[in-house]
Amino acid sequence: MIDTVLIANRGEIALRIQRACRGLGLRTVAVYSEADADAAYVRQADTALCIGPAPAARSYLDQAAILFAAQTSGAGAIHPGYGFLAENAAFAERVERAGLVFVGPSAACIRAMGDKVAAKRAMRRAGVPCVPGPDEPLPADPAALRAVADGIGYPVIVKAAGGGGGRGMRVVEDPARLLDTLALTQEEARGAFGSAAVYIEKFLAHPRHVEIQVIADRHGHALWLGSRDCSLQRRNQKVIEEAPAHGIPDADVAALGERCAEACRQIGYSGAGTFEFLYDAGAFHFIEMNTRIQVEHPVTEETTGIDIVQLQLRVARGEALPLTQDQVACRGHALECRINAEDPDSFAPSPGRIDDWAVPGGFGVRVDTHAGPGYRVPPYYDSMVAKLIVRGSDRADAVERMRLALSEMRVGGIRTNLPLHRALLDDPGVRKGGVDIHYLQRWLARRAA
Ligand code: ADP
Repeated sequence: MIDTVLIANRGEIALRIQRACRGLGLRTVAVYSEADADAAYVRQADTALCIGPAPAARSYLDQAAILFAAQTSGAGAIHPGYGFLAENAAFAERVERAGLVFVGPSAACIRAMGDKVAAKRAMRRAGVPCVPGPDEPLPADPAALRAVADGIGYPVIVKAAGGGGGRGMRVVEDPARLLDTLALTQEEARGAFGSAAVYIEKFLAHPRHVEIQVIADRHGHALWLGSRDCSLQRRNQKVIEEAPAHGIPDADVAALGERCAEACRQIGYSGAGTFEFLYDAGAFHFIEMNTRIQVEHPVTEETTGIDIVQLQLRVARGEALPLTQDQVACRGHALECRINAEDPDSFAPSPGRIDDWAVPGGFGVRVDTHAGPGYRVPPYYDSMVAKLIVRGSDRADAVERMRLALSEMRVGGIRTNLPLHRALLDDPGVRKGGVDIHYLQRWLARRAA
């Protein structure tokens, strides 16, 4: 029986997990770097242990320090949050070997989904629709390679099998550039991801990014919790997310959701996860699975009424899912704006002390944040300081509520992307919904010109 959970993360997600633990009567252990010593969630934890200096490699990524902290504090489980060690199969394995529970899927599942080619193969086998392209290692012979790309049809995209964070990808329009681009991407992949394995698939020109949230227990049950649209991205980083994905027939989403839940059962998946798709010309194409909680999970919580982080903890301690698929319903519409400490025009990080702080409130408004007046945004980590989430009876209602909420929000002393969000919520395309993944880049280019 688990009674204490170590939270191997920082920032808003550390606080989010702490609250979920408290709601379940679980004790919490915060581990923190010297840069986060003053964070409110560190003070609020039942136990708080400093695990190293500011650089993540010497604190939040220090597996030995985190395991030692778990052992000395009597934690029975480790929740990795997102980022840092959340999708590190070797870490999950070490946690399990230390006799602790990793709040997430098995190390084997993390490893399988971390290899995008293996993931694609497993998904195809489970009947999940994938981007056209082979799901086996590429041939070495140049003529055979050219034949693979010709078979897919140009443009194609070359992607690192072990890639992540939007890196290790290159589009090839001209067949003459294929071999060079492959070699370049392999080199980059070897350096950045420790494996030169790359693959080729069809490049979809104007897709939307649509994803399905799933949750599975350790007894073979799996549920899908609706769709999200995260097409508003800058350099592959999501900026605004919403649930459900607007304007896609319910029956199509339901059929896809069922496929995802079935894939979870087939691969023995447990915990929360997200299947990411590109949606193009009315069809879904799987690109990858994230084997962890995601930043944008609150929009699904707001539309389903399900506390996903609590469910993660409950299935990690061996409970069966407390509901069935027919009890999962999506009501209304939710939006999330990621509020970052960054220059709204240049996007340069803007760390420092927050000296003015006002968060919006009222019906249908939720702010997930670890920041507040006097909080000092450290320069060492991701720049997100808050997630502003609203729920409305439908999409138009949610958009209006978000505009109001953004007008109420004030963060002073540092620069934030609040002006960008306000401008986006005034944009006719964003207000209408259903934009493609390049919309924001085009919008920024127009603004710059
Ligand atoms: P990462 O793990 O680095 O996030 P993904 O495979 O999820 O990589 O792809 C990230 C983004 O790259 C996608 O959201 C999409 O914008 C773009 N992308 C990836 N594959 C394709 C594709 N086949 N066609 C068009 N765009 C793609």
